[in-house]
Amino acid sequence: MQNLSDISVVKDLLNRHGFKFSKALGQNFLINPTVCPRMADACGADENTGVIEVGPGFGVLTAELAKKAKKVVSVELDERLLPVLDETLAEFDNVEVINSDVLKVDLHKLIEEKFGGMKVAVCANLPYYITSPVIMHLLESKLPVENITVMVQKEAAQRLCAPVGSRDAGAVTVAVDYYADAEKIFDVSAGSFMPAPKVDSSVIRLNVRKQPPIELNDEKLFFRMVKAVFAQRRKTAANSISSGMSLSKETVYKAIEAAGYNENVRAESFTLNELATLANEIYNVTRQ
Ligand code: SAM
Repeated sequence: MQNLSDISVVKDLLNRHGFKFSKALGQNFLINPTVCPRMADACGADENTGVIEVGPGFGVLTAELAKKAKKVVSVELDERLLPVLDETLAEFDNVEVINSDVLKVDLHKLIEEKFGGMKVAVCANLPYYITSPVIMHLLESKLPVENITVMVQKEAAQRLCAPVGSRDAGAVTVAVDYYADAEKIFDVSAGSFMPAPKVDSSVIRLNVRKQPPIELNDEKLFFRMVKAVFAQRRKTAANSISSGMSLSKETVYKAIEAAGYNENVRAESFTLNELATLANEIYNVTRQ
């Protein structure tokens, strides 16, 4: 097997395939040999598990996953990588590469067709330009997966794993907390990649919840409210929610009062439960 963490092997592949890294596709490939085994372990890859990988690149993480998992399906957008992957993954008969944009793949169908009966995990070194869209796509699709173990930029990891209500939290933090229990697993220095990005990264694991931790009258309304709150986080809840959700201030004040909060409250520091209470009161008030 080729050692894809060996720079001379990577350079040889680059030369022979005439491959040039695409910045637009977030192509920073892992060359630190310690990272992929740790990621494969962190996602729980074993002989009973199917793993979906996003963006295999040259296949360095794919190979590690293939050694441990029952089956790996890797979705890669850049078709220039297909002949490289044919070569680097030739020895594995439990890997399938799908040439597509992960945001356009029907992942429910993929899981049903490729992993019938297996436990499923997602493991990826995500392209940085679509970190949040990919994570939200995976979570909102309510896929039957155990966890989503991904490498993201360190700052993004901080935001994704922040406690709801803290300074680092944003709308995406609330969404992640609704669907999963997020934890940082380990940090990875910029020098672990080729080409090296400007910033360090972290591997995080989103342990997907079986049930949401809060009860909502209307999930869509809740997320519209959360988006409104964090779009104008310095404003009072009444102001940000009325402008972001196109509701009269009077309506929002009624909901705030019914929820038992002060009329000048700011919702950016609310816990998940407090946000849920407010969203449920907005639902009630707008249906009166
Ligand atoms: N897994 C490899 C590694 O760790 O070395 C490559 C990771 S690189 C950060 C991100 C990979 O995602 C690239 O191979 C890139 O072509 C691919 N990619 C970018 N956008 C994508 C998309 N929308 N769907 C699927 N793959 C994508």
